[in-house]
Amino acid sequence: MSGPRYHRTREQDQRLLAFECQSCGYVSFPDEKRTCKRCGDAPATFEEVQLAERGEIKTFVVQEYLPDDIEVPQPLAIVDLPQEDGSGESARVYGLLTETDLDELSVGTEVVARFRELFDDGERPINSFKFSVPREVKR
Ligand SMILES: [Zn+2]
Repeated sequence: MSGPRYHRTREQDQRLLAFECQSCGYVSFPDEKRTCKRCGDAPATFEEVQLAERGEIKTFVVQEYLPDDIEVPQPLAIVDLPQEDGSGESARVYGLLTETDLDELSVGTEVVARFRELFDDGERPINSFKFSVPREVKR
C-alpha cells in the first residue's frame, strides 16, 4: 500500500481565491496570469478576491462519450461565482456537476462548489472542485 509521495496542490486550487484585474474588473479564476484575458493589460495588476461558494449555472453540457473509466453521463457547467463581499464582477468557472440529477439542471440553477479529489494521475492527487445542487432541504 503506497500513498502519494507528495502533494503539490497549490493553495489557490483549494480555495475560491480569484484575481480581479484592476484595469477592467475581469475576475480570473483559478490562474493569475501576467496578462488580463479581457483587456489585454500586461503586466496586469491583479488583486486577490474571495469568491462565494454558491453561484448559478450559466450554461452546461452533458458529456456522454468519455474514456471507459469515466462514468457517464457527466455534466459540465459554466457557473458564475460572485465575489464573497458582493462587490465587482463574478468569476466564470468551469466545473463538473456531481450528485445531481440531470433533470435538476437548467440555466440559473443554484449550485455550491465542493472541493474534491478529481483523480489521481499516479503520482499525486489532482484536487479541484465540483459543483452540486445544494441539499439543505431534506425531509
Ligand atoms: Zn483587464
